[in-house]
Amino acid sequence: MSDVYDVIVIGSGPAGYPAAIRAGQNKLKVACIDEWKNFDGSFAFGGTCLNAGCIPSKALLESSELYLRAKEEFATHGIKLGDIQLDLATMQKRRASVVKTMTTGITALFKANGVVGIQGHGKLLPGNKVLVTAADGSEKTLEARNVILASGSTPIRLKSVPHDGKYIIDSWNALELDAVPGRLGVIGAGVIGLELGSVWRRLGSAVTVLEAMDSFLPMADQTIAKEAQRHFKKQGLDIKLGAKVLSAKVSGAAVDVVYSDAQGEHTLQVDKLVVAVGRRPFTDGLLAEGTGVEVDQRGFIQVDEHCRTAVPNVWAVGDVVRGPMLAHKGKEEGCMVADLIAGKYGEVNYKVIPSVIYTAPEIAWVGLTEEQVKASGREYKVGTFPFAASGRARAMEAGAGMAKIISAKDDDEVLGVHVIGPMAGELIGEATLAMEYSASTEDIQRTMHAHPTLSEAIHEAALSVDKKAIDAINR
Ligand code: FAD
Ligand code: AMP
Repeated sequence: MSDVYDVIVIGSGPAGYPAAIRAGQNKLKVACIDEWKNFDGSFAFGGTCLNAGCIPSKALLESSELYLRAKEEFATHGIKLGDIQLDLATMQKRRASVVKTMTTGITALFKANGVVGIQGHGKLLPGNKVLVTAADGSEKTLEARNVILASGSTPIRLKSVPHDGKYIIDSWNALELDAVPGRLGVIGAGVIGLELGSVWRRLGSAVTVLEAMDSFLPMADQTIAKEAQRHFKKQGLDIKLGAKVLSAKVSGAAVDVVYSDAQGEHTLQVDKLVVAVGRRPFTDGLLAEGTGVEVDQRGFIQVDEHCRTAVPNVWAVGDVVRGPMLAHKGKEEGCMVADLIAGKYGEVNYKVIPSVIYTAPEIAWVGLTEEQVKASGREYKVGTFPFAASGRARAMEAGAGMAKIISAKDDDEVLGVHVIGPMAGELIGEATLAMEYSASTEDIQRTMHAHPTLSEAIHEAALSVDKKAIDAINR
């Protein structure tokens, strides 16, 4: 078999593996190269998302939430349990097994779609060639008509907070702890910091989150952010805003953290410190001299709206290019590129990208926040519906939170949908589809929603935009 491929994908995360599969579906000859190594040295496809991100974090969020509910909520349902104990080893075994099922699933999907999966490091050479270095050091050069770079991202490290993988750790380490830290520090109140902080708080840690900015979740609608902050505080997550970490040092079996806020400098001692200050695009060893692929100052590969780099037939998708670092954004880009290569139509609607924070209550949104709409100068209407008025949410003992819809005053187009409450991440699917179709709130108002479901909250919020909510008082 000749080594000239129609497409070579470097990286098998949620941007790369869908690109490879779609290329296979498009009858292109395709290979996907990855070098991922787990802590135990085993190889896996799936990238950050499957091995160290979305999937293991959701597995632990689910387990830890069940543990907490068994302890704090089941009695309300009339379910009496004896002494509830945490078996962290089993919980972690389940997390690992969920991950393993998903990553081995990719191998099966590659086979079914004719994708050649290759373990090793891929380096783009000038002239659309890819140098593959296997784990044993052997090298092979492959040729491709198209190369898709999907090398993803890696956690940002702080120089003054030196990572040691044991006491000062990153998000991946924090997912694989084998004991519950008594005191856990988290630097950064972003999505990852809040999710990891929630997991370990539920399992018993005293969690302090240090966030340099004064505002909480500035990227979210501020009505929702304020509601979230109130719930997290009530749960016992100690989130310190305006607290910039200056340095941290391991001392004995603990970490001394120095941070400053409006009151001055403080020291905090914790047993583990998670650095969750964001991620940077990962291009280490990816590009040989003279490929012509441009990388900006922050390390992102430069692409146009169709993910084309400056070099003909070299594309880049996912976390390594501009835009939100989200698995589903990368997936859409990967599929778009594989379709464009096959001569088909492809585009990504960057205006309609859902975001989800898998805390409890869950937070999800799509489109513009009220602050963004206000700043745009466009006149708008707002409708809200509290889950406290939802029969299904009440039945689930999950009446906290709300759904909020913002629509244009002139043509009623839905501009943004924001949910904090049960299954917010699932509910945002309907809103995303509505926005993809440029729906008006009237479209949602006239769509029948099953009763009793959580989705009625979206329906009622749409009705509330025109003060026509039935199950809550219109304000
Ligand atoms: P990655 O998933 O990072 O994959 C890149 C792959 O490329 C890796 O396997 C790497 O080994 C490989 N690679 C890199 N360079 C080379 C090379 N030169 N040769 C061979 N292989 C190479 N996003 C969500 O949408 N929802 C979530 O719930 C969510 N939760 C998250 C939780 C955590 C704790 C973290 C850390 C992230 C989370 N994310 C979530 C973000 C999500 O994981 C990323 O947006 C997503 O993984 C990006 O996909 P990607 O394919 O671009 O890159
Ligand atoms: P995200 O990029 O959404 O993962 O969030 C990372 C968060 O970490 C941001 O809100 C940053 O403001 C915060 N952050 C970055 N550096 C520091 C620091 N030295 N101390 C405290 N917070 C920080």
